[in-house]
Amino acid sequence: MACIFCSIAEGKIPAKIFHDDEHIVGFYDIHPQAPVHALFIPRKHISTLNDLDENDAQLLARLFLAAKEFAQREGIAQSGYRLVMNCNSDGGQTVYHLHLHVLGGRWMKWPPG
Ligand code: 5GP
Ligand code: ZN
Repeated sequence: MACIFCSIAEGKIPAKIFHDDEHIVGFYDIHPQAPVHALFIPRKHISTLNDLDENDAQLLARLFLAAKEFAQREGIAQSGYRLVMNCNSDGGQTVYHLHLHVLGGRWMKWPPG
């Protein structure tokens, strides 16, 4: 079955893409849960956190660094933001292509729901 985030990375379905490089793609979430809500994905299809291995270490670092730079550009770095990666059913994962949420522009409660 086609993966929706692979399709976005390949430009086969539209998304508001703001970051696009050899390794990762960043785009705005279609159903934003905060004033700023973006997703960073690896171009490589990895279904869940459980599927990561040592070889993906640099890829993960790239996701986090890109998220940090995005937060600075969006002007939420100082006020604060939250990075989220949901894993499987109990974690609330709905799209099975690894992605890092960047949420900001409002106060985030803790613990999460
Ligand atoms: P998850 O629940 O798996 O952690 O997050 C999946 C996220 O992807 C959700 O926040 C959802 O709104 C977003 N999403 C699902 N389909 C699309 C899509 O086609 N385009 C975009 N931009 N976001 C999507
Ligand atoms: Zn995929």
